[in-house]
Amino acid sequence: MEAQAAVAPRKGKEFLLSELYVSVQGESSLVGLPTVFVRLYTCNLRCRWCDSMHAVEGGDFTRVGVEDAAKRILDLARGTDSPAEIRNICWTGGEPLLQGESIARAIRRLPEHFVHSIETDGEIDVAAFDALVPEARSSGRVRYVMDVKCPGSGMVASRAYRNLERLRAHDEVKFVLLDRADYEFAKGVLSKVDTKSQTILFSPATPAHKVHRGLDAGQLASWIIEERLPVRLQLQMHKLIWPGRDRGI
Ligand code: SF4
Repeated sequence: MEAQAAVAPRKGKEFLLSELYVSVQGESSLVGLPTVFVRLYTCNLRCRWCDSMHAVEGGDFTRVGVEDAAKRILDLARGTDSPAEIRNICWTGGEPLLQGESIARAIRRLPEHFVHSIETDGEIDVAAFDALVPEARSSGRVRYVMDVKCPGSGMVASRAYRNLERLRAHDEVKFVLLDRADYEFAKGVLSKVDTKSQTILFSPATPAHKVHRGLDAGQLASWIIEERLPVRLQLQMHKLIWPGRDRGI
């Protein structure tokens, strides 16, 4: 393990890798699809309900060169004896866009028919990554699932507002909600900000890290139904399939 203060990848050359594995996608409109997950280490935020703190702090990561990582991703996507291949790659963390240069290079090394989802926290300027993979962004081959941090996270949404204006139709926006105040906050953001994203996800916070009680999914569903809100209720499918596990899912 490396000391937190020393943690920084060589941009465009390596990853700080927390986990690399195959699972089913538990979130977003791609839910249920077999997916290769690349969980990158370190984050710019510290959300109270973070369920991936092992990828945020503690120094549990390995440095992996971009070429090596791309090969490992391809091997996982193709499997050993399977006739088909996985075509969905999910870059998550931590905050993956802190390693955007390396992600862009890996994407260029991987087959062009792969679809890459970038799960970002909303507080990194997405324009910088857009500029690294402009054609893949235009075609939808690289898509964001972007959080907007609500007050219950303990974080303050700031860059997210500008980022929302930069999203494309194929990108998705996610609000993790801890309580009614977060729900009202999310509605307020959507009423004020112009975004082209066609998929808005409302996800109830679940107990993790510093949060002992999450938001009841039935309660959130009732609020959405009562107000006829054009958003998608999102439960984390992987946690329903593998309760109590926090790695490799
Ligand atoms: S942005 Fe994501 S990874 Fe970072 S602390 Fe928040 S929930 Fe955890």
